[in-house]
Amino acid sequence: MANLKERICIIGGGPAGLSAAMYLEKKGYENYVIYEKLNKVGGKCWSPKMKVKHNGVEEEKSFETGAIMGAITYHAVSEMEEFGGYYHCGPQWAEKEPNMRREFRTLDGKVDEWNNPKVDFSFKKLFGLLKLKKQMKKLNKIMQTKYKGYDCYGHLGVAKGEYYGISKGVDGYCGATKEDSFPNYIKGTNPNLKDLALPFSEFCKINGVEEVQRIWIAPFTSFGYGYFDEIPAALVMKYLDVTTAIEFVHMGLWTWPEGTQQIYVHVNEKLKHPAVLETEVVKVERPDGKIKVTIKGKDGKTKVEEFDKLIVTTPLDYFKDYADASDEEKELFSKIVHERYIDYIATFEEGKSPNISGYLVENMVPERLGHAMVYYNRWQYLDRDCPATVYALANHTGDPDKKYEDVQKMMDEDMARVGFPIKEKHFAQEVYYCPHVSCKDYAEGWYDRLEALQGYKNTYYAGEILSFGDMEDTCAASKDIIGRFF
Ligand SMILES: Cc1cc2nc3c(=O)[nH]c(=O)nc-3n(C[C@H](O)[C@H](O)[C@H](O)COP(=O)(O)OP(=O)(O)OC[C@H]3O[C@@H](n4cnc5c(N)ncnc54)[C@H](O)[C@@H]3O)c2cc1C
Repeated sequence: MANLKERICIIGGGPAGLSAAMYLEKKGYENYVIYEKLNKVGGKCWSPKMKVKHNGVEEEKSFETGAIMGAITYHAVSEMEEFGGYYHCGPQWAEKEPNMRREFRTLDGKVDEWNNPKVDFSFKKLFGLLKLKKQMKKLNKIMQTKYKGYDCYGHLGVAKGEYYGISKGVDGYCGATKEDSFPNYIKGTNPNLKDLALPFSEFCKINGVEEVQRIWIAPFTSFGYGYFDEIPAALVMKYLDVTTAIEFVHMGLWTWPEGTQQIYVHVNEKLKHPAVLETEVVKVERPDGKIKVTIKGKDGKTKVEEFDKLIVTTPLDYFKDYADASDEEKELFSKIVHERYIDYIATFEEGKSPNISGYLVENMVPERLGHAMVYYNRWQYLDRDCPATVYALANHTGDPDKKYEDVQKMMDEDMARVGFPIKEKHFAQEVYYCPHVSCKDYAEGWYDRLEALQGYKNTYYAGEILSFGDMEDTCAASKDIIGRFF
């Protein structure tokens, strides 16, 4: 029998922490506290405002340094929208709304119409595109048959050839509905799922669908999620399930007019206990079934608070260093790796901003580590006066990491090379991004070991590591954890 009065601590006021609080409230829990170390909620959804002058008129617009987009598969995010009363725009965008239109560019600055057979027609190009289409169809089919069960949130059982979790409700057969405010679990056995531990490039090879990487690479690697020779196929296919990938191709995507951060600002305002800001959790002790949390406030003073349960939504590889972690927790959490994703918002020399977002596919290979892979033009109607966000990765398994300053320099040079010389940079940052484990650790059942720790010392783990580093998977992971354990 659930004890709705128990006192629950949530570490982190990002999408995972706020969604955990929302789902707790939906279940009738009211005695929770969210600690957030920064002076704002939203975590990596950060949408600062900037003044932009266009046709002599100055306007203040929102820009994105973190999350930008969603898709129709964003079911948990939809629940956050409804709770907060703040909604996305798209997939059809009005003229003055932020949009997700984009083009591809080669490094010599030319627009690359690689996916349009009519431009620069050749039989080679046509056959290449027909081959790609055939393989897309094949992949779609095998994901629903050979890999049935691949599209649950999370990774439970996959290494053992099982599936168990909340269905994403896409591709027809799973059937989670929005009306189910609590998880609609699917469960089954499918030994083929073990293939999902392979690097995505190998997974494509054994299934004879190598061409599809041309589609998946832009929304995956350029968005900072790593390279296909190092990332388990499970991460790629669970984030970019076939439905979501097709939405990317057709630009059937969502954006938020005032920025993704506002989803969480609105949710936070509606919570019975909004996040306690500028309060960092610096120590966790869990003696005798109690949770003692040491918090450090803005004034630098520390205080100990006592709880019955703890929900950790922040990086577990850091948690092990400030908590009384067991040997199992230490060992498991030290296997987590993350991407080093670097981005900045830039203004460009007069009239030389990109007037549509762009992918630089040639830079999405490990040999071009540290180079700009994508730039995001958010307000297309501002034409060539609109600042853009530029993104690059700084690490790849087996290669030396790139230095932050060197990556920034390479990004600047790339933008100038393709025709968009940067005048000034704003809000530059390196982000702890997409925590996950290696293919080897995935195959050895890392996620099932994490599952076995849920509830140990009244501690529950949520956040990006559970499923994937995007807004939907983190919010769905909270729904799953609250649904099963509270
Ligand atoms: C450049 C970029 C582009 C992205 N694009 C997209 C996109 O288009 N679509 C999409 O769905 N997702 C996107 N994402 C990913 C998405 O933003 C993240 O997956 C999501 O924010 C993760 O939520 P979280 O709550 O798990 O973690 P976070 O957002 O990292 O939030 C964690 C919070 O915990 C706080 N915290 C950490 N340690 C402590 C502590 N000890 N005490 C108290 N507080 C603490 C942090 O300050 C932070 O606010 C993008 C991210 C970035 C950076």
